[in-house]
Amino acid sequence: MALKPDSYVVLNDGYKMPVIGFGTYAPDTYTKEQALESTKVAIEAGYRHIDGAFLYRNEVQVGQAIRSKIADGTVKREEIFYTGKLWGNNQAPERVRIGLEKSLKDLQLDYLDLFLIHFPVEFKPGDDLFPVDENGKLIFHNTDIRETWKAMEACRDAGLVRSIGVSNFNRRQLELILNMPGLKYKPVCNQVECHIFLNQSKLLEFCKSQDIVLVGYSVLGSSRVKGGVDQDSPKVLEDPILNTVAKKLSRSPAQVAMRYLLQRGIVALAKSFTPERIKQNFQALDFKLSDEDMKSLDEVNKNLRYLSIHPWKESPKYPYHDEY
Ligand code: NDP
Repeated sequence: MALKPDSYVVLNDGYKMPVIGFGTYAPDTYTKEQALESTKVAIEAGYRHIDGAFLYRNEVQVGQAIRSKIADGTVKREEIFYTGKLWGNNQAPERVRIGLEKSLKDLQLDYLDLFLIHFPVEFKPGDDLFPVDENGKLIFHNTDIRETWKAMEACRDAGLVRSIGVSNFNRRQLELILNMPGLKYKPVCNQVECHIFLNQSKLLEFCKSQDIVLVGYSVLGSSRVKGGVDQDSPKVLEDPILNTVAKKLSRSPAQVAMRYLLQRGIVALAKSFTPERIKQNFQALDFKLSDEDMKSLDEVNKNLRYLSIHPWKESPKYPYHDEY
């Protein structure tokens, strides 16, 4: 696939999604000011796809960065592709629009380019993002995901979002939506963890067969947040095969890790709040891996998921009990 800095995939609803996205989730060790400055650097470096979420608690700053780059003439609003996400406390149909409007208000934008159900797992409806009972246990909820989807469709019909999709769904959960009676809009994408250690070949094949784009997150191996990610797990960017390929091509391991996904038709998100790395990662677009390199990277797969989120396993909607 020949990729250029403005390369995009055409979604099943006709809108275009740039193939590299700038990730805005950052652990608490980073400041909100860094989210603001880094998003500006990303737009200056050429990123047009920005991945955010209400959960990341920085949509105020990310929105400010986007608007400032529009105001100074670097980009037009229609050139930016912003993704927002509905958190699990807002999956009850009557709360979906409330969740969306909170993001729009924080961002100070009139519409989102893409709105995703962030995770199939649902929590008790309300303003609390992680509601717990008197014993400190998370309170799960179980709205039929098809009801949530109908409310997502209504947000699209209201002109508040251009495209709608899902994130962290397994095949069965995707099929629930695809097969629902009266489906108006198919999900345009499924955003899932995807990298050389979890290459998602089966889910990718299924998504392609349904004209659903697979968007990969934690492509560089995630921020490895303590308590969330097993600190003993191997690191993507230190993998010997990845490093051998990178060295041969005089590229960075991060660029090769991203390029591996791009050449398989996956949209790659990458987060960095370091200006040099932000620029470096965007240059995953200007080189090519040979079939042989792709094959050797295929073999690195270990079905290793960094973000399994074990405390959510008790939810009836936990997605990772299934093989894919
Ligand atoms: P990534 O895999 O993008 O990795 C981020 C880490 O890699 C940071 O520690 C960053 O450090 C470091 N890094 C970035 N570039 C380089 C480089 N060139 N060389 C070495 N290290 C580098 O992590 P995320 O898990 O954040 O995934 C990306 C995005 O995907 C998120 O920000 C978010 O938008 C989205 N996401 C979505 C999820 C979902 O449930 N839908 C879940 C998780 C992520 P530094 O910043 O200090 O440079």
